[in-house]
Amino acid sequence: MLPRNSRPNPYLITVLVIALAGMPGCSSLAPVSGTVVVKRAQTHMGTLVTITAVAESESIAQAAATSGFAEIHRLEELLSTWIPTSELSRVNAAAGTGPVPVSAEALEIVTRSLQAAELTNGGFNIAVGPAVEVWSVTERQHIPTEAELRQILPLVDLRGVHVDMSQRTISLDRTGMRIDVGGIGKGYAADRAVGMMRKAGAVAGVVALSGDIKTFGQLPDGHGFPIGIQHPRKEGAVLVWIDLQDEAISTAGDYERYFEREGVRYHHILDPQTLQPARGCQSVTVIAREGVWADGLDTGIFVMGPERGMELVEHLADVEAIIVDAEGRMLVSSGLKSRIRLQ
Ligand code: ADP
Ligand code: MG
Repeated sequence: MLPRNSRPNPYLITVLVIALAGMPGCSSLAPVSGTVVVKRAQTHMGTLVTITAVAESESIAQAAATSGFAEIHRLEELLSTWIPTSELSRVNAAAGTGPVPVSAEALEIVTRSLQAAELTNGGFNIAVGPAVEVWSVTERQHIPTEAELRQILPLVDLRGVHVDMSQRTISLDRTGMRIDVGGIGKGYAADRAVGMMRKAGAVAGVVALSGDIKTFGQLPDGHGFPIGIQHPRKEGAVLVWIDLQDEAISTAGDYERYFEREGVRYHHILDPQTLQPARGCQSVTVIAREGVWADGLDTGIFVMGPERGMELVEHLADVEAIIVDAEGRMLVSSGLKSRIRLQ
């Protein structure tokens, strides 16, 4: 039970970001001011997804959470390149042979990805698929030779990715090209899940796909949702806290999917120019109105590096960032300085 009018324990939200193990599958918090907060967790898109739904009754909150999970599952079937029958897998399989008809969602995510690429000066690049595969950071953990990388470099070229809005098709110019929306898809899915939760009657909530999080509305006590940002080098420690309301937050880091060889860390965010892991940052957290931008930009800015990345953030309206550079220094964008706290 939460005491009336007290602030919910921020730990409840922290676990969304930093302590995913050991989460209860389903829990419902006590009603505060006539609303109910329900929190549930499931695995989707290869990660733990936690949904918090605030609604006027337990049944509405539960239904909202259920529809949020269902939307994420639906999108995974369309967009995951791990699922061979997904639309984007079919686009990849048809590379070099012609256009493939796809859903509105696939058209949208690829279009947004191309926009994110433009904004980040090519740092974000969904054509990195062949390089992601060759490194296979989470499975084979293979360090490719320069010759291997040189061979696939011509395939990592966004000029060969074509979206035809009128025909509703996507095509890839060359055999062997592969698009991979792993750097933006979870943020997109969080946005869409929130849309379904609102439709189902939730007045507020959080959808968290690991570190890709979208919030809407407020907690019953009138506060935003407190989110703890993971420290990139201290497991389980919070770097800073921030309260979010109708905002999305995403973190790209070199500490979650990586392996080490001879003291060198090899992680999953690749510089599209060299096809080596990007070296300028330890982590990049972006706050934006939409999850699709927070997620696309965190990966792209990670590649751009701290200086050019922060310069971009300062030029974009409604986008803020916290960057931890390669030496562990924390850079905070101007609009965020007064909002972050240490606990
Ligand atoms: P996650 O939230 O899953 O950690 P990120 O937002 O950090 O994902 O993006 C990392 C994923 O994006 C990689 O696993 C890979 O699939 C893809 N990726 C790697 N490098 C790039 C890049 N330069 N541009 C776009 N996507 C990338
Ligand atoms: Mg990302």
